[in-house]
Amino acid sequence: MPDEGSALDAEIREFCERLRLAQRYREIDERPVFPWKEFRALGSVGWLGPRFPAALGGRGWAPSREARLVEGLARWGGSVFAKLVLQPGFSSVLAAASVPIRERWLTPLFRGEVLVGNQITEPGAGSDAGALLMTATLEPGPGEPTYVLNGTKSGIAFAEEAQAAIVYARTGGEGTRGISAFLVPQDLRGIQREGGEDLGERWMRRGTVHYDRVRVPRDHRIGEEGAAFGLLASELRQERVLLSLVYLGLARASLDEVERYVMGRRAFGRPLGSFEGVSFPLMEDEARWSAAHLLSLEAVRHMDDGSLGDAESALAKWFANETSLVALDHAMQFSGGAGYSHDTLHELRWRDVRSGKLAHGSSEILLLVAAREILGRESLPYRKVTKDVRPGSPSSDQMGERAG
Ligand SMILES: Cc1cc2nc3c(=O)[nH]c(=O)nc-3n(C[C@H](O)[C@H](O)[C@H](O)COP(=O)(O)OP(=O)(O)OC[C@H]3O[C@@H](n4cnc5c(N)ncnc54)[C@H](O)[C@@H]3O)c2cc1C
Repeated sequence: MPDEGSALDAEIREFCERLRLAQRYREIDERPVFPWKEFRALGSVGWLGPRFPAALGGRGWAPSREARLVEGLARWGGSVFAKLVLQPGFSSVLAAASVPIRERWLTPLFRGEVLVGNQITEPGAGSDAGALLMTATLEPGPGEPTYVLNGTKSGIAFAEEAQAAIVYARTGGEGTRGISAFLVPQDLRGIQREGGEDLGERWMRRGTVHYDRVRVPRDHRIGEEGAAFGLLASELRQERVLLSLVYLGLARASLDEVERYVMGRRAFGRPLGSFEGVSFPLMEDEARWSAAHLLSLEAVRHMDDGSLGDAESALAKWFANETSLVALDHAMQFSGGAGYSHDTLHELRWRDVRSGKLAHGSSEILLLVAAREILGRESLPYRKVTKDVRPGSPSSDQMGERAG
């Protein structure tokens, strides 16, 4: 009898085929605009952020079920659709916002009706997000006092497309402890936006957003002043694990395709796959892929039981990303000239996975996060760390605890 996961896999495959997602993946890369149609379709079947409680707009799924969903969508569709599933998670600090803000922005986000961006990075503050300079100053107004935002955000996904963004700005104090989060509708006076061009994830049109004396109502602050990074910590750990499964889903698709190719393609009178120069690198990829997948699934298990640690989340993402990049490079190589062209999806998958070496914690920052936990502890094994996610606690007030 098929298990529950296989039934979900069958649903995912059917969804990908019905919406022609593998073809749409290529089309969206060639004409990079936000895929509203697919976003709404995912919302209509309840696949946007399904691990969140129904009270917020999700479906109360176990995180392991969402992990299987994003891996499957990446494998049979493309990274675009798996990343759409993760959008509500990227904005989940909104759970700490006022009820009217949640109803206006969070509930419709789960339905695929609005897009909410995240704005942390600045020209002078990337990995070291605690150094950001944008200010939010409470000023008296004609009515209620309002926050006035000044500064520039850069490297921002959906810079031009998002209708609202969660903006991180300094309300006073040093480092991450002085940073607060705000829900900012992007049509407010004083905001100027420019999209940009990237190697991969081109549909995100990463760009720059300038704030010149932008007035934001006081009730648009999310959580307490100075609490922004404390709100982010737990979700950031989980999204890194889910992203690791997106990379592995993309690599799995390419490994399956190239393995079929090398057994069908003949050279020197034999299938390419019968030459050790071709089969050995692919078998090494198989071993690394399985190891990375097991590491990620172990982290997913700890998401389910609420014991996910910083190091295991960081290492799951780091290992899955590195493993997938090597496998995708081999898939391009052993597909010959076609692998270097748009005739296969290998190069597109590689470009998209390459973004993971920088976004949501760069490779170096992930290793720093892991080292801080593993080397900073007396005995192994390393998991099962009690988390303290209060603002300013060691796990939240740190380099690399960032969402972009
Ligand atoms: C596809 C994509 C989407 C993104 N989306 C968003 C978004 O929506 N919102 C947002 O706010 N940001 C977003 N970002 C920005 C992203 O978060 C930053 O690019 C990232 O934090 C790195 O910052 P930086 O580019 O300023 O590099 P820097 O911080 O200048 O780092 C440069 C290099 O030095 C390394 N490095 C830095 N510090 C150390 C150290 N202590 N030890 C060793 N190496 C170090 C880094 O790993 C990196 O390789 C996105 C980035 C990408 C690629």
